Amino acid sequence: MTQFSDLGLSQPVLQALDLKGYSTPTPIQVQAIPPVLEGRDLMGIAQTGTGKTAAFMLPSIDRLRDAEKQTPFKSCRMLVLAPTRELAGQIAQSAKDYGALAGLKVQSIVGGTSVNKDRNKLHRGTDILVATPGRLLDLIDQKAFVLNGVEILVLDEADQMLDLGFIHALRRISQLVPEDRQTLFFSATMPKQIQELVGKYCRNPVKVSVTPESTTAERIDQYLFMVQQDEKQTLLEMILSERHPVPGKFERVLIFARTKHGCDRVVKRLGQVGIPANAIHGNKSQPQRERALDEFKRAKTPILIATDVAARGIDIPGVSHVINYELPNVPEQYVHRIGRTARAGRDGIAIAFCAEDEREYLKDIRKKTDAEFERLPLPDNFRAVVEGVGPTKREQKPKLARPKVRPTGDAAGRKPKAKNRHPDRAGKPRREGSETSPAARPQGKRPGGGRNRSRNRRGSPGGLRHA
Ligand code: AMP
Repeated sequence: MTQFSDLGLSQPVLQALDLKGYSTPTPIQVQAIPPVLEGRDLMGIAQTGTGKTAAFMLPSIDRLRDAEKQTPFKSCRMLVLAPTRELAGQIAQSAKDYGALAGLKVQSIVGGTSVNKDRNKLHRGTDILVATPGRLLDLIDQKAFVLNGVEILVLDEADQMLDLGFIHALRRISQLVPEDRQTLFFSATMPKQIQELVGKYCRNPVKVSVTPESTTAERIDQYLFMVQQDEKQTLLEMILSERHPVPGKFERVLIFARTKHGCDRVVKRLGQVGIPANAIHGNKSQPQRERALDEFKRAKTPILIATDVAARGIDIPGVSHVINYELPNVPEQYVHRIGRTARAGRDGIAIAFCAEDEREYLKDIRKKTDAEFERLPLPDNFRAVVEGVGPTKREQKPKLARPKVRPTGDAAGRKPKAKNRHPDRAGKPRREGSETSPAARPQGKRPGGGRNRSRNRRGSPGGLRHA
């Protein structure tokens, strides 16, 4: 098996990898690192979760070290363009981690923060700059930054940048960077417009492709509820409060809704039944987004409702469940969404809620992504609860006073607490149905009795004992 040391990386970078605890390179790293070290342009079809950040960052750091150039005034040596603030933040953090021993200066600039601060911090230039295109052009227009110094240019998640309307920004930036730079271009999909951009930006690029679609799907169990649109909230509440068992042990639950208002509505209604959750979408301020992500990461508020754009590229380990509260109308988006779970080699659970008018989307998803769903029945008492015959909200409230999605401690580096010693549980009688509820299972155990889902992937109702 190929090791990092076989790829031609320098000692400081190998040491930084050691510190990060990475032992073997991922497929995209194996394919991309050698040609990037040689100075070739690269076109990579890959999405987050494949290890692509390290695939472009590690060899670039080595090239910057080798060239031994000065940090340019009001410019940078390596420019990484990313679509969202969150992704830019993550890339900048990786650059700092991987470049820790290489002595390179890393900065990031994103929209929604003070332009003045950005102007000041870039005045003396930086070695690596991670930027969203809009903010970068703001600074260029204010004559606070130039791109003359760029030796390496990275476009990350180019298709997403186009979706967000950055096409003009990208065309402009392509005119401002030096001709003799190296370009590394990444996109999860390759529609025509992207191919044109590749033609504009890259010279004879080496093409590498990893197909997380199938590999991700292999590690993600996908379940489906057929449910009416106006009943989805009730179903969500029953699942999150463990009144309806779904497979897997909840650690962090990422829920996708189609619109910003939809996200807010779900959060509000969960709050009304005592289930704290946060939303992240384009209408939230930068500090609000950061706080929501941080609370999610630390599993302080382990339920996050997001739109596609806000969640794209988010790399948070330990997302145990992705719930598609509304199905995306673009099948690729479904793949991106469920790819938020099963990160870094772990398994994951994806649950889709499909209403009558979303059947077409479901059909498309099945056709284009080979997704295979195991259909789950609605809870026995679902109708009664929906129609208000079941326990009223008032009666439910004390039971739901705390989210049943609990931190397992891994985010904080602590071990999960023993189940029966959890303070929330101490001395409490078992809830109805808790024997089959996800939280009642020992960690890692799945319905059906094992982690090997291949036995239990689909069509095995015996594996799922619903009340
Ligand atoms: P990315 O696709 O760049 O967003 O990376 C996905 C996740 O995989 C991040 O949490 C990385 O820190 C992690 N990762 C990247 N390369 C490796 C590796 N070789 N071994 C283990 N984890 C890695």
